[in-house]
Amino acid sequence: MNAPEERTKHEGTENSTTHTPPNTSQPAVSDRKKVLIVGAGSAGLALAHGLKKAGIPFLIFEKEEAPTRKRTWSIGLHWGYEPLQYLVPADILAGLKQAQVDPHIPTTHNDRLPMINGESGALITELKSSKVYRLRRDKFRAMLLQGIDVRWGKRLCDITQSPAGEHVTAKFTDGTEVIGSLLIATDGPHSTTRTLLLGEEAAKVTPIDYAATICFTQHTREHALFLRAHPHHPVHQVGPHPEGYCGWMNLHDGDDIDHPENWIFTHYISFPEPRDYVNTRTMREHAAHQKELARRFVDPWRSAFEWMSPDNEVWYSKLRNWDPSLPEHRWDNYQGRVTLAGDAAHPMTYQRGQGLNHAMKDAYTACKAIESFWNKGDFTTEERAKAIQMYEKEMIMRTGEEVRLSEETTLKMHNWSKIMQSPLVQNGMTVKSK
Ligand SMILES: Cc1cc2nc3c(=O)[nH]c(=O)nc-3n(C[C@H](O)[C@H](O)[C@H](O)COP(=O)(O)OP(=O)(O)OC[C@H]3O[C@@H](n4cnc5c(N)ncnc54)[C@H](O)[C@@H]3O)c2cc1C
Repeated sequence: MNAPEERTKHEGTENSTTHTPPNTSQPAVSDRKKVLIVGAGSAGLALAHGLKKAGIPFLIFEKEEAPTRKRTWSIGLHWGYEPLQYLVPADILAGLKQAQVDPHIPTTHNDRLPMINGESGALITELKSSKVYRLRRDKFRAMLLQGIDVRWGKRLCDITQSPAGEHVTAKFTDGTEVIGSLLIATDGPHSTTRTLLLGEEAAKVTPIDYAATICFTQHTREHALFLRAHPHHPVHQVGPHPEGYCGWMNLHDGDDIDHPENWIFTHYISFPEPRDYVNTRTMREHAAHQKELARRFVDPWRSAFEWMSPDNEVWYSKLRNWDPSLPEHRWDNYQGRVTLAGDAAHPMTYQRGQGLNHAMKDAYTACKAIESFWNKGDFTTEERAKAIQMYEKEMIMRTGEEVRLSEETTLKMHNWSKIMQSPLVQNGMTVKSK
């Protein structure tokens, strides 16, 4: 039996906070038998689509007040396309091409990421990949939001479990609570849920000895055409430097094909920095540091940074990760009632370009796990616990390995004598255990 106090809070919350717009047809959410998804990023929304397709009732909560992303970047979706295809309806997935940084360039099979010597410009190798969609994070999210009714302005702050093992209650900072059968947290790299499950210390991301400062720049028509013409690839390239730095350059927004002055480029030079470094630099100092590093590089980095205004907005990014396979990171999932997916479960360094791809696989595996017990009718707590345990087992093994491979990639990409042994060069962007 459900505890009576749960029912009172639940019903009050449902009546006062839920609203389903007429044009969405999510499975009816009328009682506490539903999935709660926390975080409407790529992982949460992909899972929401999968549950919707399977007719499983869910609610999805997001702390942001509205669907306008403050921070965006570009993300390469490659092998993660396959699981995404299972989850998202074809008519929505057809928007993937438009969600790319440059929708005008055809997406080809067996794409290549050129790796050039950042000092000399010589081509070192071309990294293997399957078909790559280089997506703009905000456009991809807008695509995934179609047909999903998100509860905006809902910041999770606590989770409680009913004593009999049936339910989980999500509590939000606005004082509301919602009850469900299980909660999948896709609340990003600094996941509140991870902290609630493991405590502050164990849930904290681990910084490594590298950082980057990510810059987004716009240029004159002539300069933009130069930056675009120079690379070995029209969209992206990577440039390790013999002195232990690594440059990255990609087109971030090429929507306006006829006006290069409206194009936006993303570029950064990652650099060694002690893991315990406390960042006190101003944005201007970070920009100046990148400009100084870029003088050692060939084009396109040299010019892109030289042309960047000293007051350009830049974004300092300490490289960090969290390995879900470490014994001290094992969380209690309360008989399959609370689990993690996406960056919430495995924040990783981005030099191997894998985080989103694994997040899509997590969403797929979690969706299949839920389907395996949900659609049988009334499921037992044991059936739920077993399915979520199997989800976690596969996800933790796969992504724990990836967190370590990604860190190894970051380290070796900054060590000239080891670059060719880095997992990025050895395996390209493919994965063994997908
Ligand atoms: C510079 C950079 C380049 C990258 N390049 C690649 C690449 O090429 N390929 C690749 O595969 N990956 C790449 N990644 C990684 C990729 O971006 C992430 O793995 C992916 O976006 C994770 O998605 P997510 O849905 O798990 O998390 P997020 O996108 O972070 O979504 C989490 C959501 O949860 C919400 N939230 C947080 N806390 C709460 C709360 N308490 N309550 C409610 N909601 C909450 C957040 O607002 C957010 O909307 C890159 C990352 C960076 C930073």
